Amino acid sequence: MRNPLDVLHETFGYSSFRGRQQDVIDRIMAGVHTLAVMPTGAGKSLCYQVPAMARPGTGLVISPLIALMHDQVRSASAAGIKAAALTSANDDREETVRRFLAGDLDLLYVAPERASGEGFRRMVDRVQLSLIAIDEAHCVSEWGHDFRPDYRLLRALVEDHPEIPRLALTATADRHTRDDVLAQLGIPADGLILAGFDRPNIRYSITPRDGLPTQLAQIIRDTPGPGIVYAPTRDATEKLAAALATSTGRPTRAYHAGLDAAVRARNQEAFVTSEDMVMVATVAFGMGIDKPDVRFVAHAGLPKSIEGYYQETGRAGRDGDPSVAHLFWGADDFARATRRIADDIGEDRQRSERQRLASLGALVEAAGCRRAILLRHFGEDPPAACGNCDNCLNPPSSIDATEAARKLLSAAFRTEMRYGITHLTDVLAGRDTEKIRTLGHDKLSVFGIATPDDLALIKPVARALLARDALRSDDYGGLSFGPGARALLKGEETLAIVKPAVRATRRRGSAVADEHPHDPLFETLRACRRTLAKELGVPPYVIFHDATLREMAAIRPTSLAALGRISGVGARKLEDYGRAFLDALNG
Ligand code: ADP
Ligand code: ZN
Repeated sequence: MRNPLDVLHETFGYSSFRGRQQDVIDRIMAGVHTLAVMPTGAGKSLCYQVPAMARPGTGLVISPLIALMHDQVRSASAAGIKAAALTSANDDREETVRRFLAGDLDLLYVAPERASGEGFRRMVDRVQLSLIAIDEAHCVSEWGHDFRPDYRLLRALVEDHPEIPRLALTATADRHTRDDVLAQLGIPADGLILAGFDRPNIRYSITPRDGLPTQLAQIIRDTPGPGIVYAPTRDATEKLAAALATSTGRPTRAYHAGLDAAVRARNQEAFVTSEDMVMVATVAFGMGIDKPDVRFVAHAGLPKSIEGYYQETGRAGRDGDPSVAHLFWGADDFARATRRIADDIGEDRQRSERQRLASLGALVEAAGCRRAILLRHFGEDPPAACGNCDNCLNPPSSIDATEAARKLLSAAFRTEMRYGITHLTDVLAGRDTEKIRTLGHDKLSVFGIATPDDLALIKPVARALLARDALRSDDYGGLSFGPGARALLKGEETLAIVKPAVRATRRRGSAVADEHPHDPLFETLRACRRTLAKELGVPPYVIFHDATLREMAAIRPTSLAALGRISGVGARKLEDYGRAFLDALNG
């Protein structure tokens, strides 16, 4: 057996393990079954790649998606790991089987339906295994969001080889799923390694929608590098993609389930390979994509849940470089979600769905640290401020809007709870409109009771009341009381809102541009990487990550030996690409 640290240095060119990697790898090296729960970007692949290289035999990796397997094989091969995938999409299956049986593979990737089959199991009996890794292991659990019956059948395969260490990996941490994975895969309860959920390199910002295409264009201009914009509907993805392409000049594509499969595949491949593309997509996009250099994720509307939000924003910055997550929301998001719960969700689940929406409401309305709210939601005990979210960087001042909220609620009540925000504002302002005269609303006690200060707050107040379910909206925008209304009206609760003017005018710098000022040498190295990537037909990040190029630009090595000491430059990459980058550095 080799020392895992040597493998890390030689093969990957990294100086040290990150987070809980060492703990996981130590256990696998000792032959102990393990479940590693780590957030996206924590470096799960390394946890099986390193021991597969360090232990004798071939590492078997079960992975649910062909596209993912191919990405993994491509990256592993570039690092000099002998890896192959056995799937229906591979024409070289015979050759792969031959190499597997000859013990000529460090890693074999295979889909669960094949891995659980009798034929494959008998073949595995003839080969020495170093480990069995089960990626996306939450698929084994019916509690998980991606249950796959084939994953259940893996039990037989792992039990064929009780002495071979199993490593289940997932980013899904909820308790039920976790316990189920342990039980289903025969991993003892003390085999759980749970990494913290924080993604410190992602900067969170949450802002009310106010001219969305302009807001998005600003982010795109501020943030060089690839990014994803999540839009709520198919139609919205196409419209936004077209608008953003025009306003920013960036290469932009749309992705949703309604597109032809060939178009989808083409757009996805273009995005994976690109260094500056913007993909406007529905949330289905990103699931099977292993692109480490996504620099921003923007939500054009409210996500389904905090879990969903965290998973989607987690697709940014897997390479550890600074990245941003922007969420834009509006009162109508909450109105729509509330209606959907009332209309489409069974009685038994309504309560938990409301809870889910309330958590989102608290997140978007918060004046305090966003990261702290997110991490507390996942059961962690984070510091009160992170220093890398909108509210930590620019603490908003909040104002007491209780008076304005009471007036708005009263106006809704006096007009029999069926009018929308425009009419209610007219009533409160005491305006002389035809609708008001016809309905006789100028005779009501609430007519004209709002001060100019109140009126300035009506929109954000309505948003806040909808977000906390004190107001609900019908299909036509008519506002009625939700459960939170009475306490506010009776003076038992107050409403503080984030000062709207401050938010609207303040300009935040982009985390991405802030930390990496323009450097011509870095651009030269990127050009070199682009040329090589084109030649080899791989995405640029497969060659080197941005962080590696930046370190090269800072250190300016003049020899292969010095180049090899840079983080991310392993022995194989030094041999294959070293000359080209030295020339670019010293040319
Ligand atoms: P996950 O599967 O957990 O989302 P990956 O395995 O894709 O994460 O790893 C994310 C990125 O981090 C990869 O590009 C990988 O090369 C890099 N990485 C992993 N471990 C280390 C380490 N110890 N030092 C530096 N970079 C690392
Ligand atoms: Zn913060």
